[in-house]
Parts: sequence; C-alpha cells; structure tokens
Amino acid sequence: MRRTPIHGMLMAGAKHPQPTDSKPSTSRKCFSAGLTRTIMSDNFICIIPRDPWFIPDRRAQIQARRLFQQFAPQAYQITTSVTDAPIFVDAGVNFESVACPRCHQELDTWWHTIMDRTAPQQVPDLTIVTPCCGATLSLNGLRYEWPCGFARFTLEAQNPDIVMLSVSQMRELEGLLDCKLRQILVHI
Ligand SMILES: [Zn+2]
Repeated sequence: MRRTPIHGMLMAGAKHPQPTDSKPSTSRKCFSAGLTRTIMSDNFICIIPRDPWFIPDRRAQIQARRLFQQFAPQAYQITTSVTDAPIFVDAGVNFESVACPRCHQELDTWWHTIMDRTAPQQVPDLTIVTPCCGATLSLNGLRYEWPCGFARFTLEAQNPDIVMLSVSQMRELEGLLDCKLRQILVHI
C-alpha cells in the first residue's frame, strides 16, 4: 500500500496500525521468542456505521460488543471506540484502490491529494467534487477496494479467527446499533 503522510496522520488517530488500547496480540500468537511485532501481522474486523457521524447509544454499544464476542469467540479482544470527529478507517495492506462510484474512474492520485488536504482539519469536510465526472459526493461514498470508511464509532475484533461476519450477523448488529453498518477487513 502506498502510504501518504496524511494517511499516517489519520492512521495515528485511528487504531491502526498501532492500536493504542490493545495488548499486543503477538504475545499470544508468537511461537518464536525471537520474533518481534514489526514482522508479525494482525487482522481486524472493524465494523463502522455507514453514516460517519453516527454514534450508537452506550447501552447498544455494550450489547453489540457482547454479540460480536459470540460471533468471534476466539478473537483476541473486541473493543469499541468513539472519536470527536470522523477518522479514516482503512484496510491496511488490504487497501488496493479507490474509484468514483458514478463513472468508475480510478482516483488514487487525486484521492491522496484530497486526503492530505483533509488531514489537518479538526473536523474533516468530507464533501468532494470528483475530478472525473464532477459528482458532488462524500469521501465516505467513494468506491474503496477493499472497503474503507470514515467513522466516529468503531467496533472491532482483533485477530478474530473468522474470515468475516455473515450478512445475517451484520443485520443483527445493525438491529442492535440501530444503523446500517460497513465491515472493514483490516490486515496490518
Ligand atoms: Zn466519476
């Protein structure tokens, strides 16, 4: 993945690639004392509302966390977090490309420039006009491959030991959190 400074800044604000409140999973997964975290990798399933500003109520967050625990009982840990403004949750090395959802033009270079501009903003302005077809959209609405997104609320499982949540599991979480959700598969 091509990382830009903005990306680093956003990532520092997010929980990837270095979860701030997470215990290093490598202590459990590491079978060789000589290995360090820098050469290990972690997988996360990160669930975010499709609306970047939406924060589920506190009780629903706790219930959703418990339900996710049932879906991924082998997960190293499952956490929720809330930020003051939307942060970019990216797919780590799974990130491949970004494109216009209207005309499908690949927008990687332009997108990095826009993200650089957005990074210093305390409250990011997610509204953009695409250079390809002039569509007024949200940065959150671009076509990310693999899925990424902006969110104030995240629910994530570290090393969940499952590939991903099923459609029906996502629906259950959506019912609890009272919002449509996006599933981001993060590999770092
Ligand atoms: Zn376009």
